[in-house]
Amino acid sequence: MAVSHYDYIIIGAGAAGLMLADVMATDSFFKDKTILILDKDTKKTNDRTWCFWEKGEGQFDSIVHKTWKHIYFAGKKFSKRFKIDPYTYKMVRGIDFYNSLLEDIQKHPGIIFKQAHVANVKDNGQLVTVTTKEKSYTGNQVFNSLFSYDMATHQTKYPVLQQHFVGWFVKTPKPIFDVDQATYMDFSIAQKGNTRFMYVLPTSANEALVEYTLFSEHTLAKEEYKTALEDYLINDLGCADYEITETEMGSIPMTAYDFREHHTKNMRYIGTAGGWAKPSTGYTFKSTAKKTPKLVAHIKSGKPLNSLSYKNKFWYYDLLFIDVLYANNAKGYTVFEKLFKNRKPQQVFKFLDEETSFAEDIGNMMGSPIAPFTKALFRRFF
Ligand SMILES: Cc1cc2nc3c(=O)[nH]c(=O)nc-3n(C[C@H](O)[C@H](O)[C@H](O)COP(=O)(O)OP(=O)(O)OC[C@H]3O[C@@H](n4cnc5c(N)ncnc54)[C@H](O)[C@@H]3O)c2cc1C
Repeated sequence: MAVSHYDYIIIGAGAAGLMLADVMATDSFFKDKTILILDKDTKKTNDRTWCFWEKGEGQFDSIVHKTWKHIYFAGKKFSKRFKIDPYTYKMVRGIDFYNSLLEDIQKHPGIIFKQAHVANVKDNGQLVTVTTKEKSYTGNQVFNSLFSYDMATHQTKYPVLQQHFVGWFVKTPKPIFDVDQATYMDFSIAQKGNTRFMYVLPTSANEALVEYTLFSEHTLAKEEYKTALEDYLINDLGCADYEITETEMGSIPMTAYDFREHHTKNMRYIGTAGGWAKPSTGYTFKSTAKKTPKLVAHIKSGKPLNSLSYKNKFWYYDLLFIDVLYANNAKGYTVFEKLFKNRKPQQVFKFLDEETSFAEDIGNMMGSPIAPFTKALFRRFF
């Protein structure tokens, strides 16, 4: 089998792979380097939409599809529409991201994108060999975004929940959606022993992505997501007449397990596979955008790839949060309800962005139910 050699190989042209290639492409350190990107897909389909909040302008604004200035939160006893200024909630469509980044990246003469199914990756301490069905490649360093749940579930120290969801893009004959408001979490629906909510992203008065989302250990039978979405559209949104134009589904790991043992000197997992999904929320897109420049600085430092650690005080908060959610899955909604009742969404966003001071963290903790967190703290440390 023929082997080709590259300075760097990026496995997966998804969010993490393309953001990494994009940062490398614009950094003069990589001007004369060869970089191979491998993906089993052509990346020509709109396979997901990413949403995130940010203050003011951001690096993806040229491909942002829709923005909202208000969010709506509903618990069982409390609901409110919030103005989120100076934050904006933004949506980027997968296809726009893939098209835009692949076009930019391929202007770099040393970067090549190939469609290939990666079957094996091996670091021999000097070089990393990446084997596909057709060919093997070697790289001085490899960045791997191939995720599988067994990377995290082989251990029991850190519980692994899933943020799993099915979303329908619906079109309604009547205008029923508030186009300036994203329903961030609607917990008014039946919880059925888990943490379950609806997420609604209107793109016009009669078009929206409506997503049935759970934070729980196991996924549901397909029919259950369908029944819940139908029920919500008819009984909560008062819309019996709608057309489903597209669907999306996914499962994002929610765990404080940090994936560290999988990295080697010359091979680093990135994106979801690198533990970049924020454990307490599943938000990965902005977290990836923030972590990528730090990884690039580490690559330039010449240090072993497995010596980079992203751990900070927020990891401990996430750890306790997942412990609480795992132990009290049916009551998860109470944590969010209390938080949104007692704290402004701006404070919640800042905390989830890992930008708060210790004093602000205490404020957020006081705004959440104290008893389950204290119990989790004792269970974890004593
Ligand atoms: C439907 C959906 C909606 C989401 N919405 C949000 C959101 O709103 N906000 C947010 O922050 N996060 C969201 N996420 C979570 C997270 O941001 C995404 O999953 C994100 O794409 C993760 O980036 P990644 O690079 O780790 O993985 P991916 O983007 O999935 O990239 C992995 C790549 O590897 C390729 N690949 C897989 N196997 C092989 C193989 N054997 N050989 C070669 N290539 C292979 C895949 O084709 C893919 O392109 C969502 C996830 C999904 C699934």
